Amino acid sequence: MREKAGKAIDIHAHLGDDVVFGHSITEQSLLDGYRDTIVCGAIVQPSLPQFYEEANRGIHDRIARFARDCTEMKIWGMASIYPHFTHEAYRAEAYRCVKELGFVGMKLTPIGHACDPESEDGMFTFSVADELGVPMMVHTGSGIPFSSPMHVLKAAQRYPGLKIVLAHAGMGIMAREAVILAKLCPNIYLEPTWTGVADMRMIYEEIGPERMLFSSDHVNNVPVQLETMAAVVPARELDQVLYRTAEKLYGISLHA
Ligand SMILES: [Zn+2]
Repeated sequence: MREKAGKAIDIHAHLGDDVVFGHSITEQSLLDGYRDTIVCGAIVQPSLPQFYEEANRGIHDRIARFARDCTEMKIWGMASIYPHFTHEAYRAEAYRCVKELGFVGMKLTPIGHACDPESEDGMFTFSVADELGVPMMVHTGSGIPFSSPMHVLKAAQRYPGLKIVLAHAGMGIMAREAVILAKLCPNIYLEPTWTGVADMRMIYEEIGPERMLFSSDHVNNVPVQLETMAAVVPARELDQVLYRTAEKLYGISLHA
């Protein structure tokens, strides 16, 4: 494990071949991308695999192997399960990921999973995350109306003990809605990848560093995200945003 001057945890990284967005990310490309940055830990979730259970299990197993075998930095897993499998299959894979593979969170991608968070299948995913006691990350921004931050209100209110991370914090065009939702619901956290400096400032000023999380979504976005956050968050609070909020939220540690 290499020593670095600053520290950051990337809470939103992908691995594998994505059939929805058409990209492919390998273990080596992640490690190469992080090498000259301050990122020394990452929570890795699947790129969207083909929509059958074996493929979904396969990418989770690959992430678990990466987390186990990586010596260069800390890697943790996040489960992303197609929500239109049967509820039994969905729950079984979520339990396997968290209880057996040690994953620290779950993900719902309304645009990629073709799932409105407010729908029956959408709400079921939150119920399982709540049972398991792990945070649920929800993609927001591109892919509205399903990806509107406000479609998460129902779950945030039904499961007040469940921590929900809005990935991309509304992605610019819906940043205001993400902030309004976070002000309404103390269990909402914001992960502002692809957010510009003005919206980043609004998020920091209105929500504060304890519900704000550093991430990249794509490893080549790390320098841009770091610069944008550093332009907005005062130096004394930067560590909070770069890794302390993540450590507390996901129950992980860069030092353990
Ligand atoms: Zn993503």
